[in-house]
Amino acid sequence: VGLDADALGSRTSGQLSGGQRQRVSLARAIVTRPRLLLSDEPVSALDASNRNLVLSLLDRLRRELGLAVVVISHDLSSLAGIADRVAVLYRGRLVEQGPIGEVLEHPRHPYTALLTASAPSVRREHRLPPVRLRPDAERPPWPDDEGCVFAPRCRFAGPECRDEPRRTALSDGTGPSHTVACHHTATWRDRIG
Ligand code: SF4
Repeated sequence: VGLDADALGSRTSGQLSGGQRQRVSLARAIVTRPRLLLSDEPVSALDASNRNLVLSLLDRLRRELGLAVVVISHDLSSLAGIADRVAVLYRGRLVEQGPIGEVLEHPRHPYTALLTASAPSVRREHRLPPVRLRPDAERPPWPDDEGCVFAPRCRFAGPECRDEPRRTALSDGTGPSHTVACHHTATWRDRIG
């Protein structure tokens, strides 16, 4: 993982930098040669240069070891450079998933569009005005567990959104690998204003 064991000597974790500690954690995780690595917010506590080092390391390890890596992150921009696919969750529910380039460039769920609009470094659709949350003052009473999980914050919600949308593959030729759970996948963009 790019650490010099001799140089580290007998230093304890408190004597290592954040980036070094993260690399030690990765070494411990892969020493048994797993096939799958789950990495929860691996770079959230690191500065920009260490973040790039650790992300590059994850990318190298997955290629060299044939390792499947699942990264859980709130930072879309940190995933954009290394992930093949992305699954977007809102309150623990999967709302959109697909190839990362497709999802980030053409988000089909209002929540994904909101995320990409909040991360200028990954926002590719410059002509698309940013999606905004429904203002608190306009929020209708909406039982938490009814219908679409995003409905209380979604400015495109309608009565049909009281039924939970099923996750469906896009029918516009992008293939079955890109799925979205929204009743208005094809029309909500027309109502951005
Ligand atoms: S199903 Fe309705 S509430 Fe949910 S994201 Fe789509 S438009 Fe918004």
